[in-house]
Amino acid sequence: MTLAAPTSVLGAASPARGLECRGCGARFPLAAQHACYECFGPLEVWYDAEALATVTREQIEAGPQNIWRYAGLLPAGQDAAARVTLDPGFTPLVRADHLAAELGITGKLWVKDDSANPTHSFKDRVVSVALTAAKALGFTRFACASTGNLANSVAAHAARAGAPSIVFIPYDLELGKVITTAVYGGDLVAIEGSYDDVNRLCSELVETDDFEDTAFVNVNVRPFYAEGSKTLGYEVAEQLGWRIPAQVVIPMASGELLTKVDKAFEELVAAGLAVAPQGWRVFGAQSAGCNPIATALHGGGTEIVPVKPTGIAKSLNIGDPAAGIYALESVRRTGGWMDYVNDDEIRDGIRLLARTTGIFAETAGGVTTAVTSKLVASGKLDPTLETVIYNTGEGLKTIDAVAGQVGPTYQVKPSLRAAREVGLIQ
Ligand SMILES: *Cc1c(COP(=O)(O)O)cnc(C)c1O
Ligand SMILES: [Zn+2]
Repeated sequence: MTLAAPTSVLGAASPARGLECRGCGARFPLAAQHACYECFGPLEVWYDAEALATVTREQIEAGPQNIWRYAGLLPAGQDAAARVTLDPGFTPLVRADHLAAELGITGKLWVKDDSANPTHSFKDRVVSVALTAAKALGFTRFACASTGNLANSVAAHAARAGAPSIVFIPYDLELGKVITTAVYGGDLVAIEGSYDDVNRLCSELVETDDFEDTAFVNVNVRPFYAEGSKTLGYEVAEQLGWRIPAQVVIPMASGELLTKVDKAFEELVAAGLAVAPQGWRVFGAQSAGCNPIATALHGGGTEIVPVKPTGIAKSLNIGDPAAGIYALESVRRTGGWMDYVNDDEIRDGIRLLARTTGIFAETAGGVTTAVTSKLVASGKLDPTLETVIYNTGEGLKTIDAVAGQVGPTYQVKPSLRAAREVGLIQ
């Protein structure tokens, strides 16, 4: 006799079994809930460990060239027909020898270039998982509180799915984030406040009757959203031949991505899917204009003191980071470090990455590149070990950051004489 598979609201093949409080460990059914009823701590998806252990490299490698090859390790999306997705993922892992030489890194250096996703940031990963879970839970309208990239991604996913969307942003975002959201045709609400104000308003709206049908990817369905970030860990390990790199450098806004890459590495090792010959150390990058997590680490504390963000790295400008304390925990447990850089260093980081790899990153990528440089200089990052730095977004969306710094080398009339006059020819 065979036992029937346990049925899940997320589909019979989902390995997810419930939600678990990151604070007190209390467990809840799979639902659109993000805070613990006991202690208000954030909730995380918990899985049937046996179900995860059945996933094999062969199954993954036979899957599609996108995040859904890891569906066996995700809470939703096992049934391809039920997905809400732009099929993101399997972005390039680029060997960065010239950048390594400039930074004084002698170990292998790679850039995981997630600007290659459909809406040009890593947010497509988290949105695909969150909205696929949201649809299974019965939601019909899609929403988010965004620092920019999330807005792009939610609006585009809703357009592809033929569903209504309403996304909330701070009113002072870069034009390259506003237009690339509005073009998809959903509702776009610019709030006269910071991201933290936007997020608080969304937490209030989601409780109202008018928003009963609405999934806010990073509010009421946040536990599912967060799981999508794991694919940035799985992919890097698979692309390195199922080996976990010794060091990773990751930009932080809420700190969620950093904790989930760490979690992905843990899961791969636990399931016997990847090896970690040198362990792994996780490094976090922030801007000087918004550095609450790095500041807590430097001060030796375990609590995050919220800040009012400033500076050009707007996609990372979360002053009260929801996963900050867990990011601290990941970095301390793995023996990594965090640092931050100012706006001029961010611009230099964007140009350094572009000049040495051919990758034009948004300000967040400038933060990560410049922090990597700082971590080498301070001796926190071991320059002899294999290192992966994560570029999470596209430079064309934040073009103003470097617009005043780069431009034509020459402007010349179309004649040989003019070319000679400026020194292009003898
Ligand atoms: C959202 C975002 C991040 C960080 O995400 P968290 O998970 O909130 O830390 C990093 N880079 C870019 C470009 C982003 O848009
Ligand atoms: Zn709790």
